[in-house]
Amino acid sequence: MIDLDEIFHKLSRSAFRRKFRLTGRELAYLETWGIEHVMKQGADLIAQRLAPAQPKNDGRQTPWRNHPIFVAQHATATCCRGCLEKTHGIAKGKELTPLETEHVLAVLRMWLLEAVNR
Ligand SMILES: [Zn+2]
Repeated sequence: MIDLDEIFHKLSRSAFRRKFRLTGRELAYLETWGIEHVMKQGADLIAQRLAPAQPKNDGRQTPWRNHPIFVAQHATATCCRGCLEKTHGIAKGKELTPLETEHVLAVLRMWLLEAVNR
């Protein structure tokens, strides 16, 4: 398993990743529906858009807004397979394993839980 502390330390050194905040509609959505609901949708979004060996439009598949998961993906470098490889050390070109998917979801959950209290 990839060390989450190490990942968040890496992310904290990136001015680009650090600037993302959960605000407006996306924050309201999380506060209204709760983390479990959002993470359930997150699991589907990751399975469809990130997990395949060759995701559709890879590098541009994650919108900047409209779902808390999308914002969290940009903030945590889980937005596309290139970023996932560079920051998380998960090689592209192959389908994500269940353990790798679990890692991505754990990172997203952690970011979202911290983002609510920011
Ligand atoms: Zn990316």
